[in-house]
Amino acid sequence: MRRYTSFRGEKEEAEFWDTHDSTDFQSELEEDRETVFERRSPGMIYCLGCSYCLEGLTEHRCPECGRGFDREDSATFTRDPKHLQVRRVRRLLSFVMIGLVLLFSVLIFFVIAASRIFTFGWF
Ligand SMILES: [Zn+2]
Repeated sequence: MRRYTSFRGEKEEAEFWDTHDSTDFQSELEEDRETVFERRSPGMIYCLGCSYCLEGLTEHRCPECGRGFDREDSATFTRDPKHLQVRRVRRLLSFVMIGLVLLFSVLIFFVIAASRIFTFGWF
């Protein structure tokens, strides 16, 4: 019998498997120890406020930040704590932008005030 691993190309391999059954070669198969897919645990949930792992808690409250959560309501927790980091960076950037706008507004105000003082004097 021909060994299934000795093909000269994908086409030849495809033609072979069109006419053969892989179960006939089970004795030649080896277990692959390398991780190909990682199944995300369906129970792993994280706090929306601080990304604390909420797994195995008896209370419906984050012990780290006190935020409540409901295991039945997916809007009250997250399964992917990486998204929280992105959200934090976005929030920080929006605060920085608001700060810059406020700073720029104050700067404009003082420039206008100073130009009026120089033009018209104090009185
Ligand atoms: Zn928390």
